[in-house]
Amino acid sequence: MSVAPDALDPYALTREGLVDLAVELEEPAYRAEQIHGWLVRGVDDPNEMTNLPRSLRAILSERFAPTRPELVAHRVGDDGHTHKLLLRFPDGEAIETVLMLYPKRATVCISTQAGCALGCPFCATGQAGFRRQLTAGEVVRQVVVADAALRSGAIADEELPDGAPDHVTNVVYMGMGEPLANLPATLASVRWLHDPDGFGLSARSITVSTVGLVPGIRKLAELGLPVTLAVSLHAATDDLRDELVPINVTHPLAELEQAVRDYRRTTNRRVSIEWCLIGEVNDDERQADALSAIARRLRAHVNVIPMNPTPGVRWKEPSRERTRAFVDRVRDRGVEITLRDTRGRDADAACGQLLASYTVGAGTRLPAAVGAARRVDELATADRGAAQAGEVSS
Ligand code: SF4
Repeated sequence: MSVAPDALDPYALTREGLVDLAVELEEPAYRAEQIHGWLVRGVDDPNEMTNLPRSLRAILSERFAPTRPELVAHRVGDDGHTHKLLLRFPDGEAIETVLMLYPKRATVCISTQAGCALGCPFCATGQAGFRRQLTAGEVVRQVVVADAALRSGAIADEELPDGAPDHVTNVVYMGMGEPLANLPATLASVRWLHDPDGFGLSARSITVSTVGLVPGIRKLAELGLPVTLAVSLHAATDDLRDELVPINVTHPLAELEQAVRDYRRTTNRRVSIEWCLIGEVNDDERQADALSAIARRLRAHVNVIPMNPTPGVRWKEPSRERTRAFVDRVRDRGVEITLRDTRGRDADAACGQLLASYTVGAGTRLPAAVGAARRVDELATADRGAAQAGEVSS
């Protein structure tokens, strides 16, 4: 299905934007509140907004872009604790959303881009390249789909595992793509998810991750909501980080550390450092010591996630011994550190992996890493220009 070029994404509008729309359509201002009331409940099809007049529903149906995705694959792992959803939007683009169930917590891991241009070489999404930005509505919709599946019982035939709640309690922006490279959709969706009249998630139950887009971190701080910032560090020296996280060439560690320190000061919110532990790449003593120093200076909690081996990626998961030694060494240096389970390993839950196996299964070849390297150069150039102009490219 093609989407009209002037179609509106209602989730990209603020409350004021909805009022402007009502005025433009010569409707009373309270229509904006009615539309808002539906949107925060996850209803974006005007035909389902039953308290609007039929004529207005028809007009809005033409103006609003369809963002409701179709569920094309659902894989269950970890004895029902992990649900990986492959969602396809009306233009045919597919993305991944993961629902993780814990006692009293249901966390959705959402995507902000179809693919990713940052080309981290250990990441399946990075290897598949960038296709397009998601709209705010497409980001919000992932939470709506997961929440509806939980509430309706579609996720579990019988009882939910471990006393998990029947609704979404936490959202993490850690799926496909770099959230701060799609800043408008990320900020707009955070506002919707936090809206006390609607989804009502506390800022603290929303986590936005980044590999280190410094201008985006500064914009996120300006949002004025203490959302948790998770910095995907993966390497604590510039020489290794330039290789593992190529955006580090543009925003090296010292600059990133300063931005994170400022974020912490502005929001009064603790940050976390994410560390994908890769066998014999970043699991040595030098990296453990450099990580400990950064984490101590930032008073950050460190989450270590052993790498999920993915098809087409040359690196491997760390041995148990090296994992244990790394975690112990960081902890011994006074840092709070958690070794995360590899949630979803049997549901292909590494970022981009379900889509990778889906496209490979459909006979589509993943682009070669050389394409990713070229895109990183282009993005680094664009990002440098945006930084000079005081804004983030998206
Ligand atoms: S790790 Fe994140 S930023 Fe890097 S390529 Fe993958 S999705 Fe993009």
